[in-house]
Amino acid sequence: MNYVDEVLARVREKNASEPEFLQAVEEVLDSLRPVIEANEKKYRKEALLERLTEPDRQIKFRVLWVDDTGQVQVNTGYRVQFNNAIGPYKGGLRLHPSVNTSIVKFLGFEQIFKNSLTGLPIGGGKGGSDFDPKGKSDREVMAFCQSYIMELYKYIGANVDVPAGDIGTGAREIGYMYGQYKRLTGLYEGVLTGKGLSYGGSLARREATGYGLLYITRELMRCHGMNMEDKICCISGSGNVAIYAAEKAQQMGARVVTVSDSAGWIYDPDGIDVALLKEIKEVRRARLTEYAAAKPGAQYREGRGVWQVKCDIALPCATQNELGLEDAKALVAGGCRAVCEGANMPTTLEATRYLQEQGVLFVCGKASNAGGVATSALEMTQNSARLSWTFEEADAKLEQIMIHIYHNIDDAARRYGMEGNYVAGANIAGFEKVANAMLAQGVC
Ligand code: NDP
Repeated sequence: MNYVDEVLARVREKNASEPEFLQAVEEVLDSLRPVIEANEKKYRKEALLERLTEPDRQIKFRVLWVDDTGQVQVNTGYRVQFNNAIGPYKGGLRLHPSVNTSIVKFLGFEQIFKNSLTGLPIGGGKGGSDFDPKGKSDREVMAFCQSYIMELYKYIGANVDVPAGDIGTGAREIGYMYGQYKRLTGLYEGVLTGKGLSYGGSLARREATGYGLLYITRELMRCHGMNMEDKICCISGSGNVAIYAAEKAQQMGARVVTVSDSAGWIYDPDGIDVALLKEIKEVRRARLTEYAAAKPGAQYREGRGVWQVKCDIALPCATQNELGLEDAKALVAGGCRAVCEGANMPTTLEATRYLQEQGVLFVCGKASNAGGVATSALEMTQNSARLSWTFEEADAKLEQIMIHIYHNIDDAARRYGMEGNYVAGANIAGFEKVANAMLAQGVC
């Protein structure tokens, strides 16, 4: 059996109850085949793939907090420190009832390659909890965050592991976590990113993932002889990534006609009113039904349906596995030219293959949503240097990083005879740097 299949078989056996993690490993190792085959003897001897698919360390702990009625609540906290060959572990904290070991491991594994692609010195990690901040009071969220950090602070640090936001973890949660870390350690250091501007946050971090997604999408389109002007975009989600993707897409002249949340979706043929969306989601923390109530011409529909809308560009920005084969078929039938992932692994493997076979330009999240973590790394740089860049400085660096990522993954795909396969290109480019660093550092 060849080395990739051997390792895949072992990973499947060892992690049988972790479907999301297996999906991520299969996708990555499958597209690395040409690179592995070219170096099979060396990599096998060094057990490189076994080392890469086994986290450095997994931390799982109990998180106790007291709700507003005086009831004690119990949640599970996670942090997976996957690989620090090229820098301190870096990756977000997801707060959502669906969080479990498989989800945290899949996200941590993907993060290794994504962080490598940014060209910045950051390793891969991810964490979170099955705590759901939705519907909780600020005091309850603070109680949870303080208790979570009470355990996690032992394992993180500005040069060790630097967590950030993700689903359910925004500026409010990062603020409570940072305060607790500072209280426990006495250190005022850049241990978390996504911080408020008055205590070490970076301008443009909030916008970075969504804006970065559009910078890479525009470069992709440009390199294929198209522009963003008047293109119809379908976006899913209505959280941090979706909101700023919609904002930048419209600034570039495209028309965004959909957004969604876990209950339903909006079709707004005149173009999403981003200011209204921000007011509803960022200020009032309300549901999308309120958007339709406030915006003439917009329709609210329950359940899923974003990908049934005819569009030129699809930007899935909600969650994993939200775009399946049937959705991909509908997109192709509607003439969609490009799918760029804002979320992590929103497209299933089958759907990805179908889109690629049909000639749809497809950029996977580890490349196209890397703007968030890249700007987090810029926040770390500013914290270390004790300075703050202007919005324009941080945004310009973000744009350059995203353009560089596009050409990096394009080149990697071409080098291995897979021109236009940006999934393979992203995995290969991300892998090469990490693999070289691991081998150079010996068996450790
Ligand atoms: P938010 O929590 O701000 O928003 C998530 C959005 O997705 C919400 O609209 C939410 O709806 C929707 N959603 C969540 N779970 C589901 C589900 N099971 N079914 C349907 N809709 C769902 O998260 P972000 O915008 O920060 O993150 C979105 C994605 O982008 C995630 O995959 C994340 O890992 C990825 N990402 C985020 C980065 C960042 O900088 N924030 C960086 C890189 C990747 P509802 O409000 O109803 O739950």
